[in-house]
Amino acid sequence: MVLLSRSSFYFPPDDMLLRHRLLSLHSFATSFAASPPAPRPSTASFRRSLSLSARLKPANSPPPKRSAAARPPAADELVRTALFVPPGVPREEVTPDMLLSGSNIVLGPYAGHAQIKQVEFVKSSARARDCPKDDRPEFAILGRSNVGKSSLINALVRKKEFALTSKKPGKTQLINHFLINKSWYIVDLPGYGFANASQSARTDWSSFTKGYFLNRDTLVAVMLLIDASIPPQQIDLDCANWLGRNNIGMTFVFTKCDKMKGGKGTRPEENIKQFQDLISKYYKEPPPWIMTSSITGLGRDELLLHMSQLRNYWDNNELD
Ligand code: GDP
Repeated sequence: MVLLSRSSFYFPPDDMLLRHRLLSLHSFATSFAASPPAPRPSTASFRRSLSLSARLKPANSPPPKRSAAARPPAADELVRTALFVPPGVPREEVTPDMLLSGSNIVLGPYAGHAQIKQVEFVKSSARARDCPKDDRPEFAILGRSNVGKSSLINALVRKKEFALTSKKPGKTQLINHFLINKSWYIVDLPGYGFANASQSARTDWSSFTKGYFLNRDTLVAVMLLIDASIPPQQIDLDCANWLGRNNIGMTFVFTKCDKMKGGKGTRPEENIKQFQDLISKYYKEPPPWIMTSSITGLGRDELLLHMSQLRNYWDNNELD
């Protein structure tokens, strides 16, 4: 079994400066990200109000019971090879029961309240600097157009048509903030890779969204959505690589995992395996990943638990 280490991102030999920076970062923050060529927020700017962090102390909750119904067929074969082990869990004490179903994610003591009780749309921003200005942590949901991003957000918040993204290339692209339980944000980012997008629309997406990633102090991690019903796409690999190289923590969220049988193409499990093989060029061990379906609800609760441990760790870490 290979567990994630602080230097989990692979660097070419000539990239010593980046490697040095990586090793000096905190182990959890770097366990799923690469070293930053761009400046990141200072430690001081990470300081949070005591009241917010007090609400988000780790709950020491036990790992959830794995329900047979929620378990995707044969997913366990994929899970064993490389695990994401969060802080607070001694590696040698990891047991199969601690794994979130259909993922490589170990659930640790920072996992806490995960259910969504309340959600409100806060604002759409045309520029990164127009995003809400407060200290609440946030997760960006990112993926190729048609990957199932709106469907996943709707499934997470259990509301139909809550997230409606523009399907037309070239239309104004916005960053949408949804406030969850009045304490953290889900951020719906414009999809990339519209088949018919003009070069200028692509460039817009790129500078606009990259600006958000590089300047958003409160970004805990990116949920990078990958369509598991089709073979790996170069544009997704490029996106993952860019995020990794810029030290943006990410989780691969495989969508449409209900499309298990039949069809002409390859099965989700094969596509996921292929994607991971390709990604392994860049990572010594892969970042966290999880299988989901917005149709069956597969992976929904598990993804929320994973987000809760990232969020709670992020918040507590800032008080150190
Ligand atoms: P977006 O462009 O990324 O926001 O993608 P949408 O959420 O609009 O979904 C694109 C298409 O994929 C739609 O036809 C959805 O019905 C379909 N879709 C989304 N999620 C799933 C899923 O989990 N399983 C299956 N089978 N289809 C899905």
